[in-house]
Amino acid sequence: MQRAITGYHRDDAGDLVAELACGHGFHMRHRPPMTSRPWTLTDEGRAAMVGTAVACLRCERFEVPAGFMAYKRTPTFTEASVPAGLRAAHTTKAGVWAKIHVEAGCLRYCVESPALAAQTLTPETVGVVIAERPHRVELVGPVRFYVEFYRREEAPHTR
Ligand SMILES: [Zn+2]
Repeated sequence: MQRAITGYHRDDAGDLVAELACGHGFHMRHRPPMTSRPWTLTDEGRAAMVGTAVACLRCERFEVPAGFMAYKRTPTFTEASVPAGLRAAHTTKAGVWAKIHVEAGCLRYCVESPALAAQTLTPETVGVVIAERPHRVELVGPVRFYVEFYRREEAPHTR
């Protein structure tokens, strides 16, 4: 899944980590000849790469980014009260992830990740909503569920 570089920080070992719009980090190592990223060596090179999209495998693995915390949740919905907006394709805002928690019954969760994938959610199976990816839910019977939203705990690193 292609995600734009929004900034950088260094990990504990001093290695450069690009921060992606999804909230994930991407190690940008320069270890020629195996991995050649000479642009990482200068301020100008790094600045020029901001905005460039790279493939984020962590998004494709449905990993909520490290350091993200739940900050709000919806009321509990039932098959009778689920908002129409959740049943049509929609997305979260940039940098916002979510989890769909089924309290009782089951719910079908469909997401473009990037191919359309569907999963049946139950009280034992939590659905992970990837930031900015189109998704929707489908009713398959009686259900009680809510959606919990996640974002970065502290202010994001600046460029
Ligand atoms: Zn990602």
